[in-house]
Amino acid sequence: ESIYGIDRWSKGLLTVLPNGDVALCDPANPEAPAVSLPAILQDLQQSGIASPLVLRVKSFLEAEIRHLNESFAKAIEKTGYRAPYRGVFPIKVNQQSQVVDRIVEFGRQYHYGLEAGSKPELVIALAHRLSREALIICNGVKDAEFVRLAILSRRLGFNTVIVLESPKEAEIVIEVAQELGMDPLLGVRVKLTNQISGKWTSSSGDRSAFGMNTDQLLRVVDRLRDKGLLHCLKLQHSHLGSQVPDVNDVRRAAIEACRYFSELTREGVPLTHLDLGGGLGVDYTGEKRASDNSINYSMEEYCANVVETVAYEMDEAGIEHPVLVTESGRAVSATSSMLIFDVLESTLYDAPDAPEVEPDDHHLMADLAAISGYLVPERVQECWNDALFYRDELRAMFRRGHVELRQMARAERIYLHLMARIKDIAREGEHGADLDMELKKIADVYHCNFSLFQSLPDVWAIDQLHPIAPLQMLDQVPDRRAVLSDITCDSDGKMDQFILSGGISPSLPVHTLPEDQPYYLGVFFVGAYQETLGDLHNLFGDTNVVTIDLRADGGFDLLHEQEGDTIAEVLSYVEFDPAACIASFRRMVDEAISAGQLTAKDRKTLIGAYRDSMNGYTYFE
Ligand code: PLP
Repeated sequence: ESIYGIDRWSKGLLTVLPNGDVALCDPANPEAPAVSLPAILQDLQQSGIASPLVLRVKSFLEAEIRHLNESFAKAIEKTGYRAPYRGVFPIKVNQQSQVVDRIVEFGRQYHYGLEAGSKPELVIALAHRLSREALIICNGVKDAEFVRLAILSRRLGFNTVIVLESPKEAEIVIEVAQELGMDPLLGVRVKLTNQISGKWTSSSGDRSAFGMNTDQLLRVVDRLRDKGLLHCLKLQHSHLGSQVPDVNDVRRAAIEACRYFSELTREGVPLTHLDLGGGLGVDYTGEKRASDNSINYSMEEYCANVVETVAYEMDEAGIEHPVLVTESGRAVSATSSMLIFDVLESTLYDAPDAPEVEPDDHHLMADLAAISGYLVPERVQECWNDALFYRDELRAMFRRGHVELRQMARAERIYLHLMARIKDIAREGEHGADLDMELKKIADVYHCNFSLFQSLPDVWAIDQLHPIAPLQMLDQVPDRRAVLSDITCDSDGKMDQFILSGGISPSLPVHTLPEDQPYYLGVFFVGAYQETLGDLHNLFGDTNVVTIDLRADGGFDLLHEQEGDTIAEVLSYVEFDPAACIASFRRMVDEAISAGQLTAKDRKTLIGAYRDSMNGYTYFE
């Protein structure tokens, strides 16, 4: 447990049982026994639900919704803030119906709403019975159809706010509102100049793609005033970018947003809602520092800072406290899902023994083998340098034809054996940080049953780090170190950065694969962005997804199961007709029978194998 830092990053949602299993703790019921993940997987396996799978835990999602809303409520009460918080969940962060439905249902008590960044997302939002006080915030580029639906939805009592992104969009809204003869509920998106740090730095500041500068903003205000629609402009929106690492950036942005708010109010705009967008981060590494995968604040601190800053700025400006809105997505949904997969096999960076050097072997092989004669703790760095030099020279000799294939294979084994010994002996002596890092890179490759591109796209695209740990055997010291490769045949499909208690490491401590049981790994906090950004690289489709509820007796209930894509399904996504593929294969088999190359029995076997594959899971079964 301590190697993986589970207690540091898991926010109390995970623990390790005495038998070494990783287990889920119910945040709503801390007294309930923790539920073993390997036991859950065994149960699911018996009901025919295999890994890889995404496991969603209902109470984890509910806990974050409660935490966010109650943290704002507490900060509001403590500060004496004179308006409520009305958060919205951005659908794009996790559009899966199981997630959105649950958020709406559980969030109703907090008047929690939804953010729609596109027409399809607005269509989803309008299919939900929100609280009468909840908001639907419409961001993104909008055409007349989008605007018409948003305005008309007010007839059903929805508080649908159209956030104007540009002067051109304002013209579309003015036109549709006049055509319908209805008042829209409007917002304006302001481009703040403060630039945040972190991976999403380009979402803020002058060069960010969305939002209006001051001049555009005033043009829109004047235009709405001219058209008699200024009284509809109620909300001011800004968004800093996701995963803001430093809470002081949140404060600085809130101050700038308040300046716009008070100036617009002075201009006669009847603003009532201040929307500060998303950005509330997740501490993936548990380090509590302002860095790409960590944040230097808690959810409570974020809420307190927002409330205090806005209260102070509005009091200074002598303006009524506005209703506070945030569009936090990542912080609400990331922790609620985990990706679980089995390790299929390992390629060990090791050789059990070093072969003898033969008389006609190249003299560099004897030099390589001789290193073990002076391998002592004080000379580890020297041995490492020599081993690398001789290995590289031997490779060069092989390329030039001076070393043969079988000699090269012997040289590799001598080298691998030497590396394992260097690693062992290095534990006893003192050496520099560089060698230490290099030694950690000496790692096996564990081949795992998942697709990075489908299930962890941000790991591939933006070097996102997620906590990863084996789900069993944590009562035993891991005896190997590995990097993880997925089952796509793409060399980018690997993970080689891991969050450990001692910091970020280029390899993951793992156990020798047991022979009689699966070895599962869990990738945690994948409930935000990962599912919908995933792609069909090598046509690996959606994994199985299950939603569970934790019971007070230490068991669990299976709430929902969504089977992963079959091969037929992924083929149809790329416009192949599975029936036509089967027919084409059958024709080739029949032709081979006519030509006397196959028998009728072969026909059954071949067509059966093709059909079974077509209907099967895209992953290793
Ligand atoms: N609101 C808008 C307009 C966004 O673009 C985003 C995503 O970046 C969000 C909200 C959600 O941000 P986060 O998931 O960081 O809370």
